[in-house]
Amino acid sequence: MRSQDYDRLYLSPPHLGRHELNYLHKAIEDNWVAPVGPNLDGFERDICEFTGARYCVALTSGTAAIHLGLRLLGVGPGDEVLCPSFTFVATANPILYVGATPVFVDSEAETWNLCPERLREALEDMRRHNRRPKALIIVHLYGMPCRLREIMAVAREYEVPVLEDAAEALGSRYDGHPLGTFGDVGVFSFNGNKILTTSGGGALITNTAEWAQKARFWATQARDDAPHYQHSELGYNYRLSNLLAGIGRGQMELLEDRVKKRREIFAWYQKHLSDIPGLVFGPAEPMGGRSNRWLTCVTLHPTDTTSSPEQLRVHMEKHNIESRPLWKPLHLQPLFATVPVYGGEVCEKLFKQGLCLPSGSAMTEADLQRVAGVIKAIL
Ligand SMILES: *Cc1c(COP(=O)(O)O)cnc(C)c1O
Repeated sequence: MRSQDYDRLYLSPPHLGRHELNYLHKAIEDNWVAPVGPNLDGFERDICEFTGARYCVALTSGTAAIHLGLRLLGVGPGDEVLCPSFTFVATANPILYVGATPVFVDSEAETWNLCPERLREALEDMRRHNRRPKALIIVHLYGMPCRLREIMAVAREYEVPVLEDAAEALGSRYDGHPLGTFGDVGVFSFNGNKILTTSGGGALITNTAEWAQKARFWATQARDDAPHYQHSELGYNYRLSNLLAGIGRGQMELLEDRVKKRREIFAWYQKHLSDIPGLVFGPAEPMGGRSNRWLTCVTLHPTDTTSSPEQLRVHMEKHNIESRPLWKPLHLQPLFATVPVYGGEVCEKLFKQGLCLPSGSAMTEADLQRVAGVIKAIL
């Protein structure tokens, strides 16, 4: 580590507690680092207990969970999958893995997530052309619940199964229920920058027993029930290790605490920075929604005399503070240049105006003051 990195403020670094080491220690003491094992069972149990989902399958990444989730929904070559344009690329990449095509839909300005009206427009347009999407992926970006009531009503009306990408939204709620439990399949990520981490990992939740069983089967190379290695289906090496699941067990104990801290950080920034003209905090919670505030985000509405988000980012970088533009819409990515999009103006504008601020749950009051000072100095 370079010496200057000691005082670098990262966007969302890992924040470990005291019990992760106990679970790791036990696994090594018992010589149980593979295959599967008690930490893996325990981690899945913890996630089921927290979410209320019947089944959980812990995997190597959230991306792997989306991939298996799409297969569970029967998505294959030639199918179309509806997906918000405003998200991280990992939401949509698995659509390509299974040989299907994404159809992107714009956000709405309040939650920054999938716009229910645009979604209906897309489904109507597809219906007129005798196209029927095989699945809909919904995302709760930055931990913010999307407009679930309206979106799920449209999905039911058009009979489209829903995969819920809650990778950024572990611990967020809607009508009191944990996110991840609204879709037919729910997905979490435990990547290094998420609200909880196993260094790398993910999980799939569902209430359908056969789906959980199938996901486990595919995640361990789809090995048939035979003494020799026999395979009738295409499988993957996607199962989380018992060691990393041990870190996950320790992290799950801290979830409520971490959500509380991230919400406090959002509130702190809002209190100390909202008098800056042209700086707006977002996204906003929809009725019934409670965000884990994974990342605190702002949009800047500069006049001739004030700074753009990119100027602010560079300025913060000079002070060794990491910030990041909002997700670049997928319909603007070269990878998806030929993919159709319904709307697009809302998320394009967000991308132009937005910035994510350091939001790690280990931040101190002094850290926050340092960020606020640097922001105030330039705006
Ligand atoms: C992080 C993330 C993923 C992917 O999770 P990984 O564990 O990094 O594979 C998927 N979707 C969204 C919205 C994410 O932020």
